[in-house]
Amino acid sequence: MKSIMEFPIVKQTTMRSLVVEAPNMLALCERPVPHPGPTEVLIRVAAAAICHTDFVTMAGQHDAARFPSVLGHEFSGVVEMCGEGVSNLRPGDRVTAMGFAYCGMCFACRCGRHTACENIGAIPFHIDGAFQEMLVVPSSMVFLISDSLSFEEAALTEPAANGYAAAERGGIDAGENVVVIGPGPIGLLALQAAAMRQPGSLIMLGTRDERLTLASRFGATDTVNVRRSDPREAVMEITRGKGADVVLFCGGGEETWMLSSRILAPYGRVVVEALPDRCDACWPVPIFDFTARHVSYLGVCGFTGSQFATALRLIEAGKMDVGSLITHRFSLEDYEEAFETSQKRKEGAIKVIFKL
Ligand SMILES: [Zn+2]
Ligand SMILES: [Zn+2]
Repeated sequence: MKSIMEFPIVKQTTMRSLVVEAPNMLALCERPVPHPGPTEVLIRVAAAAICHTDFVTMAGQHDAARFPSVLGHEFSGVVEMCGEGVSNLRPGDRVTAMGFAYCGMCFACRCGRHTACENIGAIPFHIDGAFQEMLVVPSSMVFLISDSLSFEEAALTEPAANGYAAAERGGIDAGENVVVIGPGPIGLLALQAAAMRQPGSLIMLGTRDERLTLASRFGATDTVNVRRSDPREAVMEITRGKGADVVLFCGGGEETWMLSSRILAPYGRVVVEALPDRCDACWPVPIFDFTARHVSYLGVCGFTGSQFATALRLIEAGKMDVGSLITHRFSLEDYEEAFETSQKRKEGAIKVIFKL
């Protein structure tokens, strides 16, 4: 095992860091470059994407939000320095990372249920994220990427893994009718993952035509603009009266929520991937569904290490298209414009990326 002294020592002592100092108060600061602990690595960030979760956290509406902290859980970069106990990575490696580290030792981890880890360490709740020049993360979070994969695309492995996990949670069988509600980044990625499971019909419901067009490119058999057509009537017509076997609920908020049960076939499954704007939100469920119609509601949040590795492999193989989601690129200095573009979806923004 190499000692840390044998690796190139970072000459840079300070770095630019976008710090959330208090709810909705951001500042670009100069901070000391952090030093990796024995099982950690220092990564120089190449690309980091803004996510809807960042806005919820920044506003202090997430239970686990802390201040000050640094956001950015979707990123890629190059390993700059390794702790003395790290054997799976070396300086110079091109990498991406899961947004969280699981302990591997608790009961949930030992059962392979990493997303339910009792000692989870997640960006930005326990670990500072990638909206800064360099960050330190546990090496267990980090995955090597192929030389041919761009840093921009690699940064979107995290949302791709979320989409993949949602489709897998739905247990979609070939020939089933699948409806995706919400063509946001996760919805568009869940749709791509669902398409690989050979559904009979794959329907995207949304309000923005340009995103519905993208959904068609990603494998949707039908798209419905819910502002122009009644979504229930449309789904029933497309599925010849059966309804959806699986609904992947990937956005739309509470007002869209009840639509899931209205379009669901008996014995259908609703996969709830969307994050409400508040952690204490309670959305109604028509309880009769559970009994008379044998409906299941399945929650999904995050992904396992295996699902992350699979999503990365699918991106590298060109089977999941994350590049088409990247609409805007900014430097860290232009963070105000970057966040505004992402939040207000200006100029058709889907994924907004910081290039460092
Ligand atoms: Zn995210
Ligand atoms: Zn654990």
